[in-house]
Amino acid sequence: MTFRSFMDLALTEARAAAARGEVPVGAVIVDRAGQVVAQAGNRTRELHDPTAHAEVLAIRAACAQIGSERLVGHDLYVTLEPCAMCAAALASARIARLYYGASDPKSGGVAQGARVFAHAQCHHVPEVYDGIDAAAAEVLLKAFFAQKREGN
Ligand SMILES: [Zn+2]
Repeated sequence: MTFRSFMDLALTEARAAAARGEVPVGAVIVDRAGQVVAQAGNRTRELHDPTAHAEVLAIRAACAQIGSERLVGHDLYVTLEPCAMCAAALASARIARLYYGASDPKSGGVAQGARVFAHAQCHHVPEVYDGIDAAAAEVLLKAFFAQKREGN
């Protein structure tokens, strides 16, 4: 099977999040057959929920969709390096492969910070591919935070 990236769809979710006034991060979960089972963007402000990151919302939706607390064989695409909370959720969900875009020096928990997958206490480690369409994700994030600084 040839590789097809779903990062374009994750970026669409990130743009939609920005339009809602949320930090522009989007996530997509794909099953073994290459079918999208869930897609989500950040909704922390809308839901008054600090855990409503794109990855968590996508995991919840995908698990509800397939009726399982595990997403064995599923891949997750996200526009920004997951934070420690999301990385732990990905491990618990048994996500097979993680594809992410921009790295996140401020809150990232995969390649820096908590490095969740590097610990012995992490019982499942997905394959990790970083830098997928990173420039596009960075442009969105920079524009969003620049606008916030201007007070809009
Ligand atoms: Zn997160």
